[in-house]
Amino acid sequence: MEIIAIANQKGGVGKTTTAVNLTASLAAKRKRVLLIDLDPQGNATTGTGLDKNDLALTMADVLLDGVSLQEAIVTSPAGFDVIGTNRELAGIDITLMGQTNSHELLKTAMTQLVTDQANGQKKPYDYIIMDCAPSLNLLTINALVATDGVIIPMQCEYYALEGLADLSQTIERLTELNPKLYIRGVVRTLFDARNTLARDVSAELQTHFGDIMYKTHIPRNIRLAEAPAHGMPVIAYDRWSKGSRAYLKLAAEVIEQSRGK
Ligand code: ADP
Ligand code: MG
Repeated sequence: MEIIAIANQKGGVGKTTTAVNLTASLAAKRKRVLLIDLDPQGNATTGTGLDKNDLALTMADVLLDGVSLQEAIVTSPAGFDVIGTNRELAGIDITLMGQTNSHELLKTAMTQLVTDQANGQKKPYDYIIMDCAPSLNLLTINALVATDGVIIPMQCEYYALEGLADLSQTIERLTELNPKLYIRGVVRTLFDARNTLARDVSAELQTHFGDIMYKTHIPRNIRLAEAPAHGMPVIAYDRWSKGSRAYLKLAAEVIEQSRGK
């Protein structure tokens, strides 16, 4: 079982799109996957066809009431397992402030999940993918403490290099809380190959961070933006779109990384 957090402190860079579509693509490649939504906006939850306000149990119950991850899992209309989230998770920083180990709640729950699955004779997940909020709040810290690797979606715009240097530093600092933490890869998102700046920035990223860059670029593709409104990953909405094919390629790269370990 490998745990992957999709994180970037910036909003609108394609975190949720990557979380949903990478999970769906891994599932399409017959991997056992679980998607955990850790952004109170609940966009990843909605993106799999679930009604975020009609869930019996959410990540709020897991993190605030000690419900097990196993109990909170639902099979989404997209066909894979999801633990959803909604606004109930919004004030968690304040609720848990001062509680010792508040940054380790998810890690503890993950350990329990492994035991629960073994006891229930379930095959363990190949991948658990977590969609993070665009900030370094307590939820994101929980994700980064519980995870093995981080995938960083990044737009190829002017401040990308600086942004990535900052993020690497943040992750470096967090290895104090999670020695396993590492950047699994950076994926260039919302990519427009006709845009000269985007091409230049992409090349710069390749020069300076080549060893952690995925080869796959996710193009700016209208189908990727439309799919969530239909509660579907793009692979279900338009299998042959550029966006769908790009996320399948990214999933192949992620699986290839697992082989190398
Ligand atoms: P984040 O989770 O980082 O805030 P999102 O994944 O929600 O970012 O993406 C922000 C917006 O951009 C959404 O409306 C989404 O549908 C759209 N979007 C994301 N990636 C793409 C893409 N490759 N092509 C077109 N639209 C995209
Ligand atoms: Mg998001």
